[in-house]
Amino acid sequence: PVYNERRFGIQNWNSGGKIPLGLKRKGKRIVVTGGAGFVGSHLVDRLMERGDSVIVVDNFFTGRKENVMHHFGNPRFEMIRHDVVEPLLLEVDQIYHLACPASPVHYKFNPTNVVGTLNMLGLAKRVGARFLLTSTSEVYGDPLQHPQVETYWGNVNPIGVRSCYDEGKRTAETLTMDYHRGADVEVRIARIFNTYGPRMCIDDGRVVSNFVAQALRKEPMTVYGDGKQTRSFQYVEGLMRLMEGEHVGPFNLGNPGEFTMLELAKVVQETIDPDAKIEHRPNTEDDPHKRKPDITKAKEQLGWEPKVSLRKGLPLMVKDFRQRIFGDHKEGGS
Ligand code: NAD
Ligand code: UDP
Ligand code: UDP
Repeated sequence: PVYNERRFGIQNWNSGGKIPLGLKRKGKRIVVTGGAGFVGSHLVDRLMERGDSVIVVDNFFTGRKENVMHHFGNPRFEMIRHDVVEPLLLEVDQIYHLACPASPVHYKFNPTNVVGTLNMLGLAKRVGARFLLTSTSEVYGDPLQHPQVETYWGNVNPIGVRSCYDEGKRTAETLTMDYHRGADVEVRIARIFNTYGPRMCIDDGRVVSNFVAQALRKEPMTVYGDGKQTRSFQYVEGLMRLMEGEHVGPFNLGNPGEFTMLELAKVVQETIDPDAKIEHRPNTEDDPHKRKPDITKAKEQLGWEPKVSLRKGLPLMVKDFRQRIFGDHKEGGS
């Protein structure tokens, strides 16, 4: 390997190497790839609160500086504009690997899942850092088992329009387990189910952000297909319990509350505008018919379960979207 610890004389802080007294830090040094994005920026907030030193690595493909700007000037915070498809040299204790174009409109463009994950695993191996992959419920494809348990292997089309995302994440999981077994890298795998909340990209095509933005702009909510397909929506919550715990996973992280898209549209009407209209559009190819996590394993092994219901979480997102759509906060750009 080109990046050799000994060659570069790099101190591996994690393995108990002697740190001069004056340089001792209170928290950990943590990289969050994709940290300027929706889920990543909430995680960064929690890590900063805990007293860690955080390095965000992001190419701003769908993320925004505004999501982490409140940490600028804090000596424990750094931001690097970098595409994880290119190698990266850093010395850290933990890597939260979130970088990935995560919505259907964006994800077709990018080999991030495979090459980016490989690079971050190479980095974890070199410095002895613990690595957490944010995988997705999409690895179950159009599931033939309901609800989905972690032991289910999925039903995925390898050559469809979504394959770059779901097969990409499946490959990312494979790479993660291979580095764990073959190179002793400490890893954690989260399979995140549909997540919503403040700072979500407004126009990235995901259903909750679409419906909320449409209802606020007095446009009809676009329901794809008959609207009877289901998803289970969780309010954005941390990944720290998984990272700090003993178990590799994979763990389903999601809210088992299951809604059809028509039911979701109704909740948005109740929250924003009872007169909001619905318009049907043709559905996309290979759209999973239903999805709902079985979270028994996360409850038992991590003591984790979602706390915020859709009806409680949605208003928090609506407040943020209202401000970004109508307020003086600038949207997009980097
Ligand atoms: P997001 O688009 O808001 O965040 C992704 C971030 O990664 C953005 O800031 C983007 O600029 C950055 N990024 C993309 N490609 C990059 C690259 N090549 N190099 C560096 N940075 C890059 O999406 P999100 O919803 O916050 O998703 C974060 C992670 O969680 C993703 O890995 C996604 O697959 C996973 N996930 C999200 C959901 C969900 O519902 N939000 C569900 C399952 C899994
Ligand atoms: N890598 C990186 N940063 C590092 C170490 C490795 O980006 O600190 C990249 C490296 O460029 C390679 C990938 O991670 O493409 C896998 O690295 P590994 O050492 O596992 O594989 P090798 O280089 O031995 O093929
Ligand atoms: N969807 C919809 N209207 C929209 C966007 C999406 O009805 O404006 C549907 C989509 O067909 C899918 C569900 O909502 O059945 C969830 O889509 P999303 O892209 O948010 O997430 P994913 O399909 O990745 O679970």
